[in-house]
Amino acid sequence: MAKIRLDKYLADMQIGTRSAVKEYIRKGRVRVNEAVVKSPEQKIDTETDTVLYDDKPVGYHTYEYFMLNKPQGVVSATQDTKEKTVTELITEKNRKDLFPVGRLDKDTEGLLLITNDGALSHELLSPKKHVDKTYFAEVMGKIGQAEVIKFKEGLVIDTEFTALPAVLEVLSFDEAKNTSRIRVTIHEGKFHQVKRMFEAVGSEVLYLKRLSMGTLVLDESLAPGAYRRLTEQEIQMLK
Ligand code: URA
Repeated sequence: MAKIRLDKYLADMQIGTRSAVKEYIRKGRVRVNEAVVKSPEQKIDTETDTVLYDDKPVGYHTYEYFMLNKPQGVVSATQDTKEKTVTELITEKNRKDLFPVGRLDKDTEGLLLITNDGALSHELLSPKKHVDKTYFAEVMGKIGQAEVIKFKEGLVIDTEFTALPAVLEVLSFDEAKNTSRIRVTIHEGKFHQVKRMFEAVGSEVLYLKRLSMGTLVLDESLAPGAYRRLTEQEIQMLK
């Protein structure tokens, strides 16, 4: 049972700044369980109390969920002394405890879930759950059926790591550049996994973008660096 001050409750839910909401409270615009409350320090139970602002219910969200189209050049961390981090890109947040669910390399773009829901993160990252992750990539050389089969059979990366069977689709080949555009779906998330898989077949990843993670699909209207809140349906489908 989480109890917080009424002014913090309203400010957290973006009704206004802490000083603005104190003013609204003093003016009698806020009711708690039907009664007008004029003291900003009144403690609110975020799970059971009903808060109304100008007669409209203000629900409290303990968790926040954002879909970020991670741009290149930003690190998948909460803090870094030198580099810009993915959580710093989320400027419209209520929570200070947001973190990225898993990591994308600094030069990888695409879908990254940013939340403060530790239990969901644990579920999505658990090696036992084998949550699918789909990537688009541009890679060196002509990728063909031989590579598709190798990916399907489970690539031996090194003595410590054999990748689980992965689905590789070849989208196109650019003869002039000698590069292939591919889509690959993997069921685990080892360090540099996609890059290491292409290295294992004698290729090299030139560009990498994550398209989906489990049921969550990157919203293509988000430019690199842009983000939006997950819809209620997206959150429910992930759980
Ligand atoms: N595989 C990689 O090699 N890099 C990423 O960022 C994600 C998957």
